[in-house]
Parts: sequence; C-alpha cells; structure tokens
Amino acid sequence: MKRKSRRNQKRKNRLRLIFMLLFFIYIGLIGHTEFNRRNVVNTYHRLFQVEAVNRTEEAWSLVLVNKWNPILKQPKMELTEVGKGQFVDERIYPYLQAMFDDARKKGIYPIVASGYRTQEAQQSIYNEKISVFKAQGLSSKEAKKEAELWVAIPGTSEHELGIAVDINADGIYSKGSDVYDWLAKNAHRYGFIQRYPAKKTDITGVSQEPWHYRYVGEKVATEIYNQNICLEEYISYMNKDNG
Ligand SMILES: [Zn+2]
Repeated sequence: MKRKSRRNQKRKNRLRLIFMLLFFIYIGLIGHTEFNRRNVVNTYHRLFQVEAVNRTEEAWSLVLVNKWNPILKQPKMELTEVGKGQFVDERIYPYLQAMFDDARKKGIYPIVASGYRTQEAQQSIYNEKISVFKAQGLSSKEAKKEAELWVAIPGTSEHELGIAVDINADGIYSKGSDVYDWLAKNAHRYGFIQRYPAKKTDITGVSQEPWHYRYVGEKVATEIYNQNICLEEYISYMNKDNG
C-alpha cells in the first residue's frame, strides 16, 4: 500500500511538472507572438526606410522617422536658409516658398520657427527639457519620461531630415491660430502634411502639433489629407498594396 501511494505521489508530481512546463511554454508563446508582431511592423518600416533613403527621387520625401524608427543613415542634403537662422533641405524650398507666398496673399503671415536640426542640436534641446523638469523636482527617470512627451529623442526627430518645419505666425500681422487653420486646409496643395494630427497620437507617438509640417510631395499629401490618415498609415497601406 505504501509503495503504491508513493508511486501515485510520484505520478502526481510528474503531472504537476508537465502542467507547469506546458503553462510556461504557453506564456512564452503568447509573449513571443506579441513581440514578433511589434517587431515585424517596425522591421517593415525600417526596411522601407533604408530603401527610401537610397532609392528614387520620390522616396527621400517618404522616409518614415518616429520613435520606433530612428534615422539609420544621415541623409545627404543641400541646405537653404529660410530666414531667422533657419534652414531646410533645398528640395522642399520652392514648395515652402510657394505656400508662404500664397498664404500672404490671403493675409496670413507664417514664419519658419524651426527647420533643419543636427542631431547635436536635437540632443541639446532634449537635454535642456530634461533639466527643466529636474529643476521642478522630478527624478532623472521621471524628467526623461516627461521630456520625451515634448521633445523627440535625438535620432528620431523629423527635423534632422531637413524636410520638416515648425511654422508659426509672425506675431505682428497674424496670430498662431490663423496660421494653423490656413495650413490645415491648404498645406497639402504644396506637398506638406500636418504630421501629428490630434486623433492619430497613438499611431504617431506624438501629441497634436498644429505647427509641425512635413514634406511628402503633393500627390501623397493630397491623398493623406483626403483620407484623413497619418504618414504611418499611408506607408503601411502602401506596403500592403505592393506586397
Ligand atoms: Zn517640429
């Protein structure tokens, strides 16, 4: 009898062990799938970015940069000054100029508040923001987290591409809201998109920024505008169509 119950006990232990193993394998698989799903999305975009940097005329304007897709290769560009010490990639300059000219004809006076930034410049804006939050009593970790809600991590800012601009009012003839309203309705006609719309925060990873415009070319900008989508959505639809 004793031997039998010991054998039973052993069998129970073995069953328990098998059950636990299966449980851990199951948990592992779920985690893995979730990890893979995210990884596939990001890898897809990363591959696209590499191709875009190296490829055609159109591709340079469709490079995807966000917090999940840092700049892999510093793009080569010629810079053009747009006033107030700000520069942009010369390829977007004619479109930006045409947009500003037409805005002025309608009595709207925009300026480029921020154009191209080197990664070092982005780094110092980022560090500065962290210091501000630390001075308010936040720990290093908290300050970093808070700062990243406002400033892109160096290497993940579109400003480093030279094809994105923060546009504001001149502060004399126009106020910010006039400029933002006009841009929201018209920028696509010149190839620019409002890159961080209010309702796309979970996809772009950035809170609404009515001043940040990004060049993608007139065709793509108009499609993005008409369909009410953001750049991440446009690129993933495009990849689906091609695949
Ligand atoms: Zn910006």
